[in-house]
Amino acid sequence: MQKLMIASGNPGKQHELRALLDIPGLTLLDPSSLEGNLQISEKGEDYASNAKLKASAYARASGMWALADDSGLEVDVLEGAPGPRSARLGAPHLSDAGRRQILLQMLHPHPRPWRARFRSVVALASLDGMIDLAEGICSGEIIAEERGTGGFGYDPIFLISGTDRTMAELSMAEKNQLSHRARAIEALMPILKRRLGLERK
Ligand code: IMP
Repeated sequence: MQKLMIASGNPGKQHELRALLDIPGLTLLDPSSLEGNLQISEKGEDYASNAKLKASAYARASGMWALADDSGLEVDVLEGAPGPRSARLGAPHLSDAGRRQILLQMLHPHPRPWRARFRSVVALASLDGMIDLAEGICSGEIIAEERGTGGFGYDPIFLISGTDRTMAELSMAEKNQLSHRARAIEALMPILKRRLGLERK
């Protein structure tokens, strides 16, 4: 059995990544299985740097392959903000709901539609420092009224292009068919299977 550390402390991401990486022959572990608390400061200004930082730190700490996602929401009228800083919009200790309110306050003066996309960059790190990257996006628009209770983060105010549903109105299985994270994992999958020797499982 190969082992892969999911290098994320975000429960929403953990949950989705576990389903997306449900591959025969692969055991998934999460940071709670490590002794001590690994503190990683996401200093990078771009998704790829942050994803690499997280994946390689967890590969070193766990002694196994590690996969990290760095993701964010990019709003056109905000010139791509909050982007890689999506998890830190507003004050550091705000809840997801608090951050959604801050984003809506920022958008209020701008004309609609508030076109946006989620972007995810995933990094797979080996113990010896080798990194593979893949990216996925999901397009949509921000709406002023929250809808749905699924998902996490900005999901209740993100209306998916070509549908009349927000990301929070989808089941996790539905979100995992079309999300930015699902697309990034889909792009990484052949590489991941090759690196971990899971191709014929
Ligand atoms: P980070 O990758 O840990 O820096 O955090 C990504 C942040 O982007 C999350 O905390 C959310 O605010 C936002 N985000 C990323 N992916 C999603 C998603 O699938 N749904 C809603 N918000 C997301």
